[in-house]
Amino acid sequence: MKEKKKHLLDLKNSELSQFISDGGFPKFRTNQILSWMFDHKITSPEKMKNIPKNLANALNESFDTFMPEITQRSDSKDGASKLLLKTAAGQYIESVILRYDGRTSLCVSSQVGCKLACGFCQTGKLGFVRNLSTSEILSQFLIASEIVSKEDRKISHVVFMGMGEPLLNENSIHLTLERLVSKETGFGLKWKNVTVSTSGIAPAISRLAGLPVKSQLAISLHAANNELRTELMPINRKYPLEKLRESLVDFHEKTGQTITIEYILIKDLNHQKKHGKELANFLKGIPAKINLIAFNKHPGLPYERPDEESMATFKERMIRHGFTTTLRISLGLESSAACGQLAAKTQDKLTEKPKRLSLFSS
Ligand code: SF4
Repeated sequence: MKEKKKHLLDLKNSELSQFISDGGFPKFRTNQILSWMFDHKITSPEKMKNIPKNLANALNESFDTFMPEITQRSDSKDGASKLLLKTAAGQYIESVILRYDGRTSLCVSSQVGCKLACGFCQTGKLGFVRNLSTSEILSQFLIASEIVSKEDRKISHVVFMGMGEPLLNENSIHLTLERLVSKETGFGLKWKNVTVSTSGIAPAISRLAGLPVKSQLAISLHAANNELRTELMPINRKYPLEKLRESLVDFHEKTGQTITIEYILIKDLNHQKKHGKELANFLKGIPAKINLIAFNKHPGLPYERPDEESMATFKERMIRHGFTTTLRISLGLESSAACGQLAAKTQDKLTEKPKRLSLFSS
């Protein structure tokens, strides 16, 4: 069987240099190629104007340069564009562009589907298919960059909040972070503008803290007592709040950073006085800011959004507990911008039957 070619965007710098020297090309060609990819966002060797034809041919013969195809785009009045992208393997992933005054964010997927089955999430219903490669994640950035460049915008922020749990795909994520943030051999985004959002894979949070490349950390918490959190997020069985807390303390000690806590407000479930106290206790001693998110109601999910007054009361409560707290009525309501929701609508298009792989079977 023919071996699958590695994608050009999946190469580490050392692998590209090795390829250049093995082919007898001068060393400076490595930097030229990296500059085309990351300064000019061009990944087709034939479009790299100062690269000789024999090198462009060699790159094309040895590496894949496929870009996912946009198969559906839905724009909403509030400035969100949701993209459904088809990968080379024929599977669907989604990215969401969020336009604000002065900044443009991109929410990227890190997996096809997700094995974590959070109760409030459409992606969780798809089950898990596979991890995305670095090139498949960076392609989402390149495609969105091209779209917004026509509106005189640049993607300034990237959040790993689309389909999948990024910290269960560490191999791809670590190189992706380097490529997004590095000024010399990457897209040069500010590290403060790149956020890894996780359901709480405790040991991977500590590993993230130890990387040479920095990024922001957001935790999808949604409840600060084990019983309720396990009901909402089964991963809490494997990494209960005590373990998660240890990893957050570790992350803060190693990086000095403030951690963002994402907390979806769900009607009658997690916004009463006692929930506020539990959240404040959980975060005691950890520099954190809290993002409250109004739940986006969707067919097939059993939850409702609380009324505005209850949400405002919970926000005030957390402010009184001493936390910087914001309440987000999410962008993209019309285009179902919340995690996993567009892909779930096109579930029948997933070419591989989703498999639910259990993390908890052992
Ligand atoms: S919320 Fe995130 S971690 Fe949970 S099922 Fe959805 S994609 Fe997976």
